[in-house]
Amino acid sequence: MVGVEGEGFKIAMFALEQGRYTVASGATGVIRASRDASVAYALERETFGTKIANHQLVKQKIALMESDYQMCHLLWLRAGYLKNQGKLNAKETSLAKWQATVRSEKAASMAIEVHGANGYSNDYPVERYLRNCKAAVIYEGTRDIHTLMQADWALGLKKEKPARKTLPPWRPAESREAVAAD
Ligand SMILES: Cc1cc2nc3c(=O)[nH]c(=O)nc-3n(C[C@H](O)[C@H](O)[C@H](O)COP(=O)(O)OP(=O)(O)OC[C@H]3O[C@@H](n4cnc5c(N)ncnc54)[C@H](O)[C@@H]3O)c2cc1C
Repeated sequence: MVGVEGEGFKIAMFALEQGRYTVASGATGVIRASRDASVAYALERETFGTKIANHQLVKQKIALMESDYQMCHLLWLRAGYLKNQGKLNAKETSLAKWQATVRSEKAASMAIEVHGANGYSNDYPVERYLRNCKAAVIYEGTRDIHTLMQADWALGLKKEKPARKTLPPWRPAESREAVAAD
């Protein structure tokens, strides 16, 4: 038996917090990849005698990808920081997973549009980003479930209770070695 009797649901939820963290990371990477591919293509492709990077609505898509990437990266770093401190982080990890996945879907879709018809073909990687991002919106809690959880936390209808045992704060390898040597 893992833990004590009656604790199974709590342990399963704790495991989800770690899975959601990795999903947030992957989805943040999809936003970055969508931005990078779009920037490269916008600086290369020309229409009406100018690079498409000079068209304002192309710029808008790239600006949204950039801001979504920066925001999701920070949300993910905050969740990781709390984990390293051994602090409660279900709310922060849920927010990072939810926002990174829904924004990765938006970024991948915009990246296809920046590439025009080329984005729809598999000559460029962006169509794969859209296929890859979709599952992550569904697993580890769908967007709907995270939306409801975040609302309940904000409304005070849901409280994060400490587990019977929590993981100790993370220590760098050198300090672990120093403790072991004591
Ligand atoms: C590619 C992929 C890989 C997966 N890998 C794993 C895995 O490794 N391990 C694993 O255990 N599972 C895995 N899953 C399953 C995944 O966790 C579930 O598909 C997900 O939790 C949704 O459950 P469901 O498919 O039964 O949809 P349902 O629960 O039937 O949901 C259908 C729709 O109703 C909405 N909904 C359901 N309940 C509520 C509610 N209470 N309030 C509001 N809206 C609600 C949902 O948001 C969704 O839009 C994977 C799924 C995919 C797509």
